[in-house]
Amino acid sequence: MQIIKTVSSMQDYTLKMKSSGNDIGFVPTMGYLHEGHESLLQKAREENDILIASIFVNPLQFGPNEDFEKYPRNEQHDIEIAEKNGIDVLFMPPVEEMYPRELGITIQAVDRIDVLCGKSRPGHFDGVVTVLTKLFHLTLPDNVYFGIKDAQQVAVVDRLIKDHNFPIQLHMLETIREEDGLAKSSRNVYLTEQERNEAPSLSKSLQLAQEKIFDGEKNPAIIVNEVKNYINTHTTGKIDYIEILRFPSLKPITEVDQQVIIAVAVQFSQARLIDNIILMPDGTSSPVLG
Ligand code: AMP
Repeated sequence: MQIIKTVSSMQDYTLKMKSSGNDIGFVPTMGYLHEGHESLLQKAREENDILIASIFVNPLQFGPNEDFEKYPRNEQHDIEIAEKNGIDVLFMPPVEEMYPRELGITIQAVDRIDVLCGKSRPGHFDGVVTVLTKLFHLTLPDNVYFGIKDAQQVAVVDRLIKDHNFPIQLHMLETIREEDGLAKSSRNVYLTEQERNEAPSLSKSLQLAQEKIFDGEKNPAIIVNEVKNYINTHTTGKIDYIEILRFPSLKPITEVDQQVIIAVAVQFSQARLIDNIILMPDGTSSPVLG
């Protein structure tokens, strides 16, 4: 496995690989790798000649009062996980390499961002699409792999790729969970012991919603209320949002009649956790981007 830290070496590598006819798979991450990331790496490994992963905690996607400085980092551990998953190149650029000067051209996400995390974290998705545009140009992937855990990100990247004609196939992969249902996340290390015990309630509340829908409930307000009551009774966290929307358009609904996402965000003392499920009105879950 090669570790590349500069933009110029990354670009040299990908141009060489493309000109010799290789398919490139790319998995962008912010590091502190866990089994959720590994599932993306494994799928990408199977489907491509060359596998590139990036580890870059992107300052542009963090708000002024968010956890950029405190975001968990462990380079050595990440290198070992990357190695184990058969990555060809691990791209780990320092911030100055990605942003050597203030950007003179910025990229702004305008659709699919006025709800969920886009609403709670103004500017977050501008940072996401900006860094991904740069990373896509540097790695020239045929296939990119993202987790449904960050479903709004998938919906926004879907627009980025389609609106800006990136010749890239977007793959979304299911959320990998702990045995008790908690979605794996780099931020879980910041839960206190009590909060860690409470945190599976997020996925339990979503299962409850799925059961309601499966039983024929079509009223989004009733489902949101169930989820809210469950989380409030079973955690000390503060609910940031609970929303049911159409997926992937993220438009509001008055009735669960097509593919929907039920998404929650809960702020604990040191960690903000998100989780979601995407399902059809009959309760089945096999998300499609359309
Ligand atoms: P991050 O390092 O948090 O930016 O995540 C990098 C990629 O891994 C994103 O596409 C995430 O959606 C994905 N990811 C994070 N957690 C999980 C998980 N528990 N299951 C599946 N994918 C995940």
